[in-house]
Amino acid sequence: MTSVQLVVVGGGPGGYAAAFLAADLGLSVALVDPEANPGGVCVYRGCIPSKALLHVAKLVDESRHAKAWGIEFGEPKIDLAKLREFKNAVVGRLTRGTGQLVKHRKVQYLQGWAEIVDAHSLKVSLTSGAVESVQFEHAILATGSVPAMPPMLRLDDPRVMDSTGALELPDIPKSLLVVGGGYIGLELGSVYAALGSAVTVVEMTPGLLPGADRDLVDVLARRITQTMKGVLLETSVVRMKAEATGIRVTFESMGAAARGGAGNDQLFDRVLVSVGRRPNSKIPGLERTQVQVDQRGFIMVDEQRRTHEPSIFAIGDVVGEPMLAHKASHEGRVAVEVIAGENVAFAPRAIPAVVFTDPELAWCGLTEAQAAKGNRAVTIAKFPWAASGRAITLDRTDGLTKLVIDPESERLLGVGLVGPGAGELIAEGALAIEMGANATDLKLTIHPHPTLTETMMESAEVFFGQATHVYKPRKVKT
Ligand code: FAD
Ligand code: NAD
Repeated sequence: MTSVQLVVVGGGPGGYAAAFLAADLGLSVALVDPEANPGGVCVYRGCIPSKALLHVAKLVDESRHAKAWGIEFGEPKIDLAKLREFKNAVVGRLTRGTGQLVKHRKVQYLQGWAEIVDAHSLKVSLTSGAVESVQFEHAILATGSVPAMPPMLRLDDPRVMDSTGALELPDIPKSLLVVGGGYIGLELGSVYAALGSAVTVVEMTPGLLPGADRDLVDVLARRITQTMKGVLLETSVVRMKAEATGIRVTFESMGAAARGGAGNDQLFDRVLVSVGRRPNSKIPGLERTQVQVDQRGFIMVDEQRRTHEPSIFAIGDVVGEPMLAHKASHEGRVAVEVIAGENVAFAPRAIPAVVFTDPELAWCGLTEAQAAKGNRAVTIAKFPWAASGRAITLDRTDGLTKLVIDPESERLLGVGLVGPGAGELIAEGALAIEMGANATDLKLTIHPHPTLTETMMESAEVFFGQATHVYKPRKVKT
């Protein structure tokens, strides 16, 4: 039997960040997860393998484009086994690293599945076959999420995949249907398109990435329509049928925006279903506690990440959106600080979101659409990358940087970016919002030249009608 001050259930980026901080603060800690080392969905079958493949996809796309710069490589020969090996090696290297960190910090790692016994104990069915009892003062539930698979899209056929299946790279299908034009659909769809599949994306809402501002999405959509075979908007899949030569899919168009054969039956070699994820809150024994789960299946927590059971906290995908690794890690650290006696709360002003497509799309803080929905007056300052020296050297002038600014205080409320490297650039926006920076702070901060970071500074200059590389005088009220 193990007795600890803190047990963390789930070894994803939320759970392991929590366990490691708790150990650093001197608590005795156990971490429970079925994998050999911590990593969770993010490292084993999410963020990390997908980004390794997107890195390769970018290389393929750039090598094709290089012809325009006078360098011709010819069509790439793809060794799928080696590509899989590379992706698995990336995951292996990271998870061996987290395994080492567990040992260094003397966190007791229990490889297995946890079942809650009561508010201060649980039992773990270890993968070795043994059962370990754990007594705890506090527990953090960080059990994450799993792919959503609505009954309409469920087909017992290996050619219909979720993100985990698609990341296995079973083959390069000649035709791939991606159901859902969100993060996963666009990222993994881009990978398969670069590898040579004819990819069709079907999205039920009127636009891709429903949570992001349209002017940013438009830039991405323009490029995607070049690299993918088709994008069907306002379209649903109403039927899927397994046939010997493929998956026959019937679409139903719901609006004028549908393009490219909606209403028809089409045959696809494979289908990727990426219509969202659902929280993993069906933890065995949870009903023996006072923990409550909302209608969508999220564990209910307060701003300190406490559940309705005083000894139990919850963090990460299992407590709500956005389902992002960095949000989970931050919540984990907050929960541990609360357990260690600090009076802190999870109260971010800006959680950055990044879609790692080409171009990348990133935003944080208030979006223009949210401001409009909430009737909040904002000033938008945009800097087109066609005016950025760095973007021109990269031959990528399709990007856009935009700031959402409070017109009275001139405080920065939100940042949106689309363009290569947007995922790296957004961190400056998140820091500026968290620090309460205003447009003058951004304008007066010297940014290195020639870099894409200058587009943040010049967007602030646009706000004052004084951008060096854009002639757009500020409107003076008369
Ligand atoms: P998870 O990472 O889901 O980990 C939960 C762990 O708990 C799992 O290992 C699970 O097996 C374990 N568990 C569950 N029940 C029990 C139990 N009873 N006992 C013991 N262990 C249990 N986010 C980003 O921020 N950036 C990205 O680029 C990104 N890319 C993604 C790409 C894909 C394809 C997918 C699917 C997701 C991606 N995400 C990305 C989302 C990200 O993976 C999640 O937000 C993140 O993993 C959530 O972390 P978590 O700690 O809440 O839980
Ligand atoms: P998502 O919520 O990002 O997108 C799902 C899309 O599917 C939406 O646009 C939705 O309108 C559409 N949809 C839903 N039902 C549909 C249907 N029946 N037919 C057609 N379209 C339908 O979900 P996801 O792409 O599955 O990703 C899940 C979550 O994982 C994301 O929300 C995100 O939190 C996380 N994630 C993050 C990253 C990243 O940070 N780069 C990458 C991958 C995943």
